[in-house]
Amino acid sequence: MDHFLYKNGTLHAEDVALTDIAASVGTPFYVYSAATLTRHYHLFTEALSPLPHMVCFAIKSLSNVAVLKLLGDLGAGMDVVSGGEYRRARAAGVPGDRIVFSGVGKTREEMRLALTGGIRQFNVESEPELRALSEVATSLGLSAPITIRVNPDVDAKTHAKIATGKSENKFGIPIARAREVYAEAARLPGIEVIGVDVHIGSQLTELAPFEQAYLKVADLTRQLRADGHNIRRLDLGGGLGIPYTRSNEAPPLPMDYGALIKRTVGDLGCEIEIEPGRLISGNAGLLVASVIYVKNGEGRDFLILDAAMNDLVRPSMYDAHHDIVPVIEPAPAVEAAVYDVVGPVCETGDTFAKGRPVAPLGEGDLVAFRSAGAYGAVMASEYNTRPLVPEVLVGGDHFAVIRQRPTFDEILNRDTIPSWL
Ligand SMILES: *Cc1c(COP(=O)(O)O)cnc(C)c1O
Repeated sequence: MDHFLYKNGTLHAEDVALTDIAASVGTPFYVYSAATLTRHYHLFTEALSPLPHMVCFAIKSLSNVAVLKLLGDLGAGMDVVSGGEYRRARAAGVPGDRIVFSGVGKTREEMRLALTGGIRQFNVESEPELRALSEVATSLGLSAPITIRVNPDVDAKTHAKIATGKSENKFGIPIARAREVYAEAARLPGIEVIGVDVHIGSQLTELAPFEQAYLKVADLTRQLRADGHNIRRLDLGGGLGIPYTRSNEAPPLPMDYGALIKRTVGDLGCEIEIEPGRLISGNAGLLVASVIYVKNGEGRDFLILDAAMNDLVRPSMYDAHHDIVPVIEPAPAVEAAVYDVVGPVCETGDTFAKGRPVAPLGEGDLVAFRSAGAYGAVMASEYNTRPLVPEVLVGGDHFAVIRQRPTFDEILNRDTIPSWL
């Protein structure tokens, strides 16, 4: 079920007309549906039941504190990849024992923050990191619960910029060397080995790569136990893909993914953790923009929007497709016009779509980018001194601005001119 539907000819987020939000907030803005976020979280908890499990939302995909509070209140854990994200999770009221710390370059300062504030586990990605964590934990008189992220060398069959589980990627420790590194971890003071971690990439549209990786993790778990390690938790990462087009065949469902987990690692008696980001947040959000101009070029027409690559970078960064739909529902008989959909930023890469059929649009009309909840607002910047795009959360028939658009004074006041200029 989709919570972004046309009602009485206007696209709604749940029971709120996007035209009402636009009138109050201005464009561009992101809007998220609380009901969709909730439903997606529950898809995973249902898929993993009755295994003991924790669904840790990968907050890098959508990190607004209001969204984290919503998911945290449902019982979700959080997967963080920086001290900043750790602070966001805590600010949302998520207790430390539900926060997992991932990432290849955790600093000693970030380790101290998480150790003193409370942490469920560190997913350690290298030997230098392991030694640093041992030092930091020992200096604090604490013990750091860890898994080691293993790189299973499987092809996730996704975009090269978001594949992480091949041996040439920077992530994790080659699975062939894992036993050696676990042995070192067991010897180090301040380190408590509790499990194994794997994450092979993002926007996976097939289950086979997960299956290959999880079977390798299952084998490794048995070996590590035979080596004397008390492996009691498996963190299986995130990465399940979402449909970005309505016409395309659908990627695997969470229920099938859950069945795969049960089939591959379900008999090990481990607590299962997963770290989905995109599947929870991606189709729970839209980016809404206005048409500034329709420019008739040579052989093509440009739809120039007030949203740009700084607000939604995925098309220029990953060649990503987002469905673009008019907020006012076109009459059924209306024939689509074909546009190059672009933003106002001074880069040729500031192109959302080429030759895209959309209903004929004019100045001031509103459009919505679908599937923009994940890796949208979090990747936004103020390039071209365009104010950071605001975020809105809808729940039923009400909405709230959960991040204000900054004023130009706020933007300019962040810069300081040195006294000697
Ligand atoms: C990015 C990331 C995720 C989330 O990936 P999605 O594709 O958004 O589900 C989970 N775990 C780790 C370690 C990541 O880097």
